[in-house]
Formats: sequence, C-alpha cells, structure tokens
Amino acid sequence: MIVGVHPLAGFDKLLHYKVPEGLRSATAVGSLVRVPVGRTLCLGVVGVVGPPEDFPVDKLKLVAEVIYPFPALTRDLLQLSRWMAGYYAAAMDTVIETMIPAAVRHGARVKERTFISLARKLTAEEQAALIKRAPSQHRLYAFLEKQLKAHPRELVLSRTKTSASSARALVERGVLKETITRVERHAYSDELSHGELVASQPHALNAEQGVAVASLEKTLLTRRFGVSLLHGVTGSGKTEVYLRAIQAALAAGGGVIMLVPEVALTPQTVARLRSRLEAIAPGHKCVVWHSHLSEGERLDGWLALASGEVRVAVGARSAVFAPVRDLSLIVVDEEHEPAYKQDESPRYHGRDVAVMRARLCGAHCLLGSATPSLESHANALAGRYGLLRLTRRVDSRSLPSFTVVDMRIEVARARGLTSLSRPLAEAMSLRLERKEQMILFINRRGYSSSMQCRKCGHVEECPHCSVTMTYHRTDETLRCHLCGEQRPAPVRCAKCGAPDIRWRGLGTQRVEEAVRRLLPRARIERMDTDTMIKKNRFREILGEFRKGKIDVLVGTQMIGKGLDFPNVTLVGLVDADLSMHIPDFRANERTFQLLVQVAGRAGRGDRAGEVVVQSFTPQAEAIQFARHADYDGFSAAELEVRERFGYPPKRHLIRHLFRGTNPDKLKFFTEQWAKKVREVMGGRMELRGPAPAPIEKIKDEYRWQLWYFVPSVTKVIGDLSRLRDEFAWPDDVKEMLDVDPMNLV
Ligand SMILES: [Zn+2]
Ligand SMILES: [Zn+2]
Repeated sequence: MIVGVHPLAGFDKLLHYKVPEGLRSATAVGSLVRVPVGRTLCLGVVGVVGPPEDFPVDKLKLVAEVIYPFPALTRDLLQLSRWMAGYYAAAMDTVIETMIPAAVRHGARVKERTFISLARKLTAEEQAALIKRAPSQHRLYAFLEKQLKAHPRELVLSRTKTSASSARALVERGVLKETITRVERHAYSDELSHGELVASQPHALNAEQGVAVASLEKTLLTRRFGVSLLHGVTGSGKTEVYLRAIQAALAAGGGVIMLVPEVALTPQTVARLRSRLEAIAPGHKCVVWHSHLSEGERLDGWLALASGEVRVAVGARSAVFAPVRDLSLIVVDEEHEPAYKQDESPRYHGRDVAVMRARLCGAHCLLGSATPSLESHANALAGRYGLLRLTRRVDSRSLPSFTVVDMRIEVARARGLTSLSRPLAEAMSLRLERKEQMILFINRRGYSSSMQCRKCGHVEECPHCSVTMTYHRTDETLRCHLCGEQRPAPVRCAKCGAPDIRWRGLGTQRVEEAVRRLLPRARIERMDTDTMIKKNRFREILGEFRKGKIDVLVGTQMIGKGLDFPNVTLVGLVDADLSMHIPDFRANERTFQLLVQVAGRAGRGDRAGEVVVQSFTPQAEAIQFARHADYDGFSAAELEVRERFGYPPKRHLIRHLFRGTNPDKLKFFTEQWAKKVREVMGGRMELRGPAPAPIEKIKDEYRWQLWYFVPSVTKVIGDLSRLRDEFAWPDDVKEMLDVDPMNLV
C-alpha cells in the first residue's frame, strides 16, 4: 500500500510513502499520519492512495504512525480543503491545519476525572465518633450524604473545604467511593446549571414561520444540495425556525452544523439549542466550538463528532470544519456578519465555505439574517437560493419608532461639538424616570481618516470609485485607495466653504462621561474592547443588565449582536456617520445593517421601543431606508450602484497587498508587478491601482495595494499564483492575496 501525504511542514507538496503491514487497516484517505520529512517526523494527512508517477517506489520511506483509527478529514472535508487552497490561494498545509484543531493534531490525551460519592451510610454512633475524631471527614460525609449522584472530587473538596487525605481515609474505610470517568468538557454547560431562564419547549409558530418551516422540512427530506436565505426582521423568531429545521434534519438521520458569528456573544442561542435538543430528542447533545475552548475541550468535542457520538456542532467560523457525520444541514446565523471572514491565511469566508461544503455533502445550507448581505440577496433574487421571509415580529410586536437627529443643527445650537443631542438626552431622561433600560451604541473606533464638514456634513469621495477619500497626514493629501486618485487635502469644505472640516470619531469614554453628566443617578456600564479584556466580564455585565442592575449600557456594536433584553426601550446610535464614511464600497451596506440591527435591540418586550440616530448626513440613503425598515428598497438602490461600479456581487474582488520597510523599493516592485499582470492577464480582468493602502504604514512597514476585479475567481487565481511564483520578488517585499475581502482598510 502506497499513499500520497500532505505533510504539515510549511511547504505545499504531496509526498509518497509506503504503509507498513501493521498500519494498513487503519490507513485511508483522510487519515492523520506521522511521516518522515528530511530528518524529522511530521504530521500529515493522506490525500490519495496509490503510487507516485515520477518516483521509484522502492525508494519510498515508511509511514511511521497512524494517529487515529478513523480519518481525521472526511472525504468531503478533503475535497473542501482542495477547493479552498485553489480559491483562496492558500497552501494546502495551512488549510488542513485550519480544519483540524491543534489539540487533535497533537493527539492530546482525553482527560479523565475522579468522581466521588457515598458508598454506605454511617450509623448515628459512627457519625458522632467521626465528628469528634475527624471533623473535616465528617463535613465531607455530611455533604455527600445529601447528594443524589456522584460529583467531581475537586469540586466536593473545595465546597466542603476538606483535603484529599480526608477523602482518601473515607474511601479506605469503604464509606465513600471514587470512580474515574472520561470527562466531557462542554463549554457553557455552566450556563445551564446556573438556571438561566431558557424555554426548552417549542414556541407556537406564526403563519410565516409555519410556511418557512414547512418548506425547509420538505427540502431536508430530499437530502439534496440547496441553499435557502431566511430573511426575517429583527425579533421575527428566526432562531425558532433554525431549531425546527435542525430537529427535522436530526429526525431524518442527518448531522447538523450551526454557525454563529461569535459564540461568546450568543450564550442564549447556545443554551436554547442545548435545552431544545434535550427536549426533542433526549440524549442528543451538541458540541460547542469556538476560539476560547481549552485544548481538552476541543479534542473531546472533535472526537465526539468524528466518532458519530454527537451529531450537532455549533460554533463560530471554524465550526464549518467540524467533522460531523452524514452532514445534512448547515445553518449560518447572521450570515451578513464580516466576522465570518478570516483575516489570516487561509483567508476564507465561513458562509461561502459553508455553501461549498453543503454542495460537496449534498446538504442544505440555511442562511439567516435580518439584513442579508447583498451577495446572498442577489443570489436569492436570481433564483439560485430559495427565499424565505419573516416580515413580522413574533406576537405582532411593532418595530421601534425611529428618529434621526440632524447633528449639523445640534452643533450650531450648542456652539460646538456635542456627543448627546437634545432629543437623545430628553429621551434618555424619560426612560430613566420610567425605570426602563437603554443602550447607547458608538461605532467601532480605530479608523477615522476620512474628513467631514461639521457644517454641511459633506465628505470627499472619489469620482471613479464612489468610496470615501482617505486623508494622508504625511503629505497632506486626500487619496483614493482603490485607484490612486490624489489631491491636496482641503482646508475648507468643497461644498459650503466652511473651515469646519475635520476628523471624525467619538470615543466610548467621552460618551460615557457625557452620559454621567446627563444622568448622574443612573447606573452606567461601558462595554468595549478596552474594558472587555477579561472574557468573563462580558457575560457578567450582560447578566447584570438582564437582571436590571444597570440602566444604561454604552458600547461599540459588539453589544448589538443578537442580544435580547425585553426591558430595553431606547437605543441610541451616537455617530451613524462613522461607518458610512470608511473607504469601503460596502460602507452603506454596513451602515444600513448596523442601524437595523441596533434598532432591533429596542422594544423586544411588551413596551414599544424607540431608536434615536445622530448623523451629520441625515438624508443619506442608508439612514433613510433603515428608518423605514425598507430592506428591499435599500437592496435595490445599492445593487444598482454595485452594478454601475462593477463591485460585488456583480464581480469578485481580489486584493493584493504589498508590504515592505523601504517605501521606494516597495512602490517600485508593486508597479513592476502591476505592469506584468496588465501584460499577461489584463484582458481577463480589470486592474485598479497600485495605490497606498488607507492605513499606509503599520509597525514600520509601508503598505501598497492592487485590486483585481474579476468575473470568476477560480479561473484567475491559478494563473495569478503561477505568475507570482515566476516573479523575482526581493526578500524584503512581502505580498499576499485576499479573495473576496471584507475589510478594505
Ligand atoms: Zn460644508
Ligand atoms: Zn478611486
């Protein structure tokens, strides 16, 4: 038996090995093996079975070890890895390393844990003697006497403040017994045991949900590939539809993956899924998969799925690679979220990989969002995806009222920049009086190099690319980072002539201070990446907020994701412009999504909600469409712009980023490369640039970029990769390709 192995050794090559007799039964396509590469042993994955074409078989080395008795990559995952390597221009070994968690690759040992329980009861005399002779042993005994089942030893010892020797003494006397069990380390099991209120019973479906569920149930029975887009307004009960679809998939014998943008932010969803699984199919468990898992938790989860013991995986981006058996449904919640895109190699998009994996398995992919990405919506409009709609909130709750405050007027009235406008301040005071809760959102910080007029709201845009121009401090210019258009930075507004043109951006801290001045008696908490360094702090604050111990929550949009607080009746967005004026063709889409999602946090309980949005450009389309909750209107208008400028979904975009410490050398090689690409491939794509990246220098490295606008990725990427290999790159110029980039800065 001869196999071709992809070694995980930092290079992209298939190497062949002989499989010794004793390992043959365990070796198959997808097996994780250890093989000699040079003088060391490396891990690798069997890619093919069969001899090489151009190498004498008798010179082949032997496979040293097969790590697991079953393939670490199922057939579909192996196919998927090849597709990803080709599409995202990534090396096979980095793709495989992304698919198989490090804990699994390193073959970490399954952890065992000692449980302790009562073996026999002591008589009253024995107990009295024990109290006298060894009070701590008695404490331990008394605790365990009341317990119905065995508990982890460490936990019991710490609860009763006793030592291991006390336990040992009682075990030796036969009073207690210890059992060693393999531990299932499930993340969030704590959430459930602390009695978070989670309805495990299915909610009754309204008419629209009923239609969506019926359609999905029918589709799932066919066990054929397909994609549905579930477009449901905020609060319309999408999760309930997901849960029913999952139920149907399990009932038909299939496995399920559910992707959420960030698991740490959605403990509610996970808890609901857990308890529902228990209710609909006792014994069904799910593996939670996310970046904060310990190695042991990861390995346990992976083994439970790979062995078929558990059939449901829920997690962030990388859960799309969970080794679920007989995969028949992949749910992608909040499919529009940029968090699904990985920003290191392989630079894959979790949603797009989910669709491809579903295709390879003959599974159904269900994409859900209140604000679908225009890519997915265009696919639905073209009939490639099914479209399911939920247009009403559950229990016929109304959408919140939506006020847009014109900050130009507020600034003039206040004679200077103010973070809280009068209408917002009044609404806040009123809510506090009524003992209702509120959330203030501040746009994500960090990027603020667009310039905006404080008087008329005007922002400079590139005439060729319809994106905001970027201010470059080094040479006082405004530049388009897509095409390189350049002009001197203005000192006066080009539209109204006012000298009030300046940087944008308010920090969360400043807003928090303004809130404290306005509402001195309110209980205020700030949530942003600075205050959230401790990961549990996030859940703590949300817990306190839920219990009503906090009146005002101030934070970046990280707190806007999928949270459901019935007592929140006011949501304020302090600076709606910031996301609109980033140099990204998706800026309008992001702003629309942000506004709708943020508004969706208000009025989820019995009381009506209100949204107040502050903007220097209140007439902007993204704001006006969001105000009227008009997704279709927004999509139609924005798709027209994308069509006109040839942006996705019309064409694909590939970003080529170049980095180097010597700016002249970097510019020279970037231009040489651009010339070469124009010569060889210019007829098959549109090139824009080279231009300096909007953040032109990071950690002493200068950054330039080039954009390829292409009708189809796979046709271009292979040729581009070959051309890159032939080009004579100097050592100090680094370059990377990002296919379908989500972050344009
Ligand atoms: Zn102006
Ligand atoms: Zn331009």
